[in-house]
Amino acid sequence: MYAWQWDGRALDLVELPAPHPGPGEALVRVEAAGLCHSDLTIMDREPSTLPFELPIVLGHEMAGTVVDVAPGVTTLSVGDAVAGYGLRGCTTCSACAAGSENYCRVPTSPPIMPGIGAPGALAEFVVAPAHCLVPAGGLDPAQAATLTDAGLTPFAAIRRALPKGGGTAAVVGVGGLGHVALQLLRASGTRVIAIDVTEDKLRAARTWGADFALLSGGAVVHRVRELTHGRGVDAVFDFVASDATLAAGATMLAPDGTLSIVGLGPGRIPVGMHAVPLGTCVDTPFWGSLPELHEVLALATHGVVEVAVEAFAMSEAAHAYDLLRRGEITGRAVVRPWQPTTGADT
Ligand code: NAD
Ligand code: ZN
Repeated sequence: MYAWQWDGRALDLVELPAPHPGPGEALVRVEAAGLCHSDLTIMDREPSTLPFELPIVLGHEMAGTVVDVAPGVTTLSVGDAVAGYGLRGCTTCSACAAGSENYCRVPTSPPIMPGIGAPGALAEFVVAPAHCLVPAGGLDPAQAATLTDAGLTPFAAIRRALPKGGGTAAVVGVGGLGHVALQLLRASGTRVIAIDVTEDKLRAARTWGADFALLSGGAVVHRVRELTHGRGVDAVFDFVASDATLAAGATMLAPDGTLSIVGLGPGRIPVGMHAVPLGTCVDTPFWGSLPELHEVLALATHGVVEVAVEAFAMSEAAHAYDLLRRGEITGRAVVRPWQPTTGADT
């Protein structure tokens, strides 16, 4: 099979033997794999600092069709359309037993998530534990795939920090995750201020439900204060997490608010009494739970949320990552391994 593999220096389309499902696993023909900014973070890291071995097939957002199941797997059948839950916990601790493998009490080292330790979904086929493959609910594979992270992560972050009584929230970084956050916040009755670095992204943000859209930097805290009559916002969802965005986020919060740091950027802020507004909660949410994935897929099935997708053929994945790095993807880039080339790389 063909797969995109990162070896620490180059991202290459390579030919690998198709995998076989081990005990408790199923083999999935990948119909869509989402490209996440976290993949760029992996490729930007000094290889020796990664907590897993290279080379690795990237891709942790996946939907596809079950084509083989291991003996004894009774929850799936060949032909099932599934979305892949990307977390891999111990499955037995109290968090995993409740479906929160994202907060496993016994995390594995090295990690074994697809594309982050285990072979990923930027491939024609991938194996996954049967319990991590959930029904795609009739959704287009590009939707089902991207909802497993670009949908699930903001959903879970918002649930942990949602402004009480439908207040005001700021979304910093209106990319793959951020544009879904806008839709979810809007649907919850929260007033939303979107913040990004280009006018194009701000225009798009308004179509996804932002009440206001502001350019990042300089005057943004002042503008947020103006828009909230001096009070500040009840929650900031930072999908960038640079020193500058975190400092701005903490400064634009109202008392008793939450700074939700979702982005994997290298930024840090000092936290302590009077260093941030009184009652501030700082959260570092990681992905979401399996039950929450079911909820997100149901919301999409009912039209509450829809990922804006830019589709690419298998041969175009490296080009799509270049566009993502330059901030030129609107919504989420998705690779369709079995679809003919679109010509976007010519
Ligand atoms: P993306 O590249 O699609 O979107 C990032 C957005 O941020 C872009 O619209 C870009 O224009 C904007 N941006 C860049 N600099 C900015 C600034 N200074 N101010 C405001 N906006 C700015 O990325 P994505 O795939 O949506 O991922 C967002 C972040 O979330 C990444 O850091 C990713 O690694 C991280 N992530 C975290 C989790 C988690 O579980 N915590 C899960 C997935 C992704
Ligand atoms: Zn991701």
